[in-house]
Amino acid sequence: MAGTLYLVATPIGNLEDITHRALRVLGEADLVACEDTRRTRQLLNHYGIRTPLVSYHEHNEASRSEELLGRLRRGVSVALVSDAGTPLISDPGYRLVAQAAAEGIRVEPVPGPCACVAALAASGLSAGAFHFAGFLPSKAGQRRAALEGLKTIAATLVFYEAPHRILAALEDIEAVLGPRPVVLAREVTKLHEEFLRGTAAELAVVLKARPAVKGEITLIVGRPDAPAGDGRPLGEAVEEMVRSGTPRMDAIKAVARRRGLSKREVYRALQSG
Ligand code: SAM
Repeated sequence: MAGTLYLVATPIGNLEDITHRALRVLGEADLVACEDTRRTRQLLNHYGIRTPLVSYHEHNEASRSEELLGRLRRGVSVALVSDAGTPLISDPGYRLVAQAAAEGIRVEPVPGPCACVAALAASGLSAGAFHFAGFLPSKAGQRRAALEGLKTIAATLVFYEAPHRILAALEDIEAVLGPRPVVLAREVTKLHEEFLRGTAAELAVVLKARPAVKGEITLIVGRPDAPAGDGRPLGEAVEEMVRSGTPRMDAIKAVARRRGLSKREVYRALQSG
């Protein structure tokens, strides 16, 4: 009988975010296929799991898929993990799962952390319908074209982005998608977790003023008709409070707290707007 291919989600930061079932499956599988054997060995060591590891990453996906399928056909059970989060979500695994499913090999998800879902759920933007767009292209022209293609989608958009490209991505999001509410979720589940809220242009101003932008980032962008809420321009949010009698400095302080920003960052964004 053929073995089972398990898709096991692993933590995206906090090592406690792993399910009892994930640990059992990783312990009982004959083989764990992973992107980086050193990284996964560390995770398994942390839980006292000694299952043999084999590398499976974007550069050997084609050859390794064949090899793993061969083993699955012979009855070997394989647990596929990625460096962090859910396999296949902007991570390798599609080729293996598609082929296993086509051959009638049992594929079982072992669900758990996923940055897209964690960031979306905590964003405060509608999760009723969302479009996960993965990473935007790194070249400006292609990035803008990709955003053009997403412009009319009536759903919240979710992107993964690298810290060194975040400013360019925010600038293009503002230019192509316009002033929508944006939530920048950084280092979710980690020590320096933060959620910044504002328009893309405002968040770009905030990040530019920081010495460096580091860590892992997921961007959530409101749908075209998203209610302004706390994603509307900072100036509007401050002015509304001032009109209703709040002293300007208190309004800035309150808006800064709600958006996860410092007073100075709000002040700077207001001046540049
Ligand atoms: N498969 C993973 C998942 O389920 O979340 C995603 C893998 S993808 C190669 C890695 C990207 O996910 C990062 O560059 C970042 O954009 C996002 N990401 C991963 N961990 C994150 C975290 N702790 N906080 C925010 N974003 C994160």
